[in-house]
Amino acid sequence: MTEFVIDPHPAPAVPVSGGGAFPVRRVYCIGRNYAAHAVEMGHDPTREPPFFFQKNPSNLDASGRFPYPPRSADVHHEAELAVFLRSGGTDIPVERALDHVFGYAAALDMTRRDLQGEMKRAGRPWEIGKAFEHSAPVGPVHPVSAIGHPSEGEIALRVNGEMRQQGDLAQMIWKVPEMIAYLSEYFELAAGDVILSGTPAGVGPVARGDVMDLTIAGLAPLTVTVT
Ligand code: MN
Repeated sequence: MTEFVIDPHPAPAVPVSGGGAFPVRRVYCIGRNYAAHAVEMGHDPTREPPFFFQKNPSNLDASGRFPYPPRSADVHHEAELAVFLRSGGTDIPVERALDHVFGYAAALDMTRRDLQGEMKRAGRPWEIGKAFEHSAPVGPVHPVSAIGHPSEGEIALRVNGEMRQQGDLAQMIWKVPEMIAYLSEYFELAAGDVILSGTPAGVGPVARGDVMDLTIAGLAPLTVTVT
């Protein structure tokens, strides 16, 4: 066997409620998947085809701490339901899509909104605004065997106790099985892939010292301190 020429990096992983850890392969994120959020970002919420961007697997962070990132003065919270795949494939039919889900967790798609905006205006890729270190705080993964497939119920984010984002999972424009099916037409999905399913309205900035509390019906709450 060929030896690595530098030390191999550890596999990014997220703790699983009940024990063990979920090794992360890829992270896909859908944009504008709740109509009210699409409107607040200046877009038409009609059901045009979904679009996705990616974060890095190592951007997931279950530590409960979010270090304020460099080179930005406008870092926003986006409260999201994360979907963890136990298997994958290509051209997955919608009606079989949920068979590939291992579980779900509460997550945050933290965004350097100022940098994302500059990239949008220039027609450039979004990574600098989205795929930075610690940009995806995440709670424990709840296996489907324990909680089923959440498709409705409140998703809410409070900052320092004040309600900032409040919606319902049922308001997703593209549902979880549809996202899996669509992604599998363009990518080969596999065990270890994670999908962030979009955010309801009310995104806004955070500052050092803020405490973000994300609650999603049926899942453990996620508390993250901005450091
Ligand atoms: Mn998002």
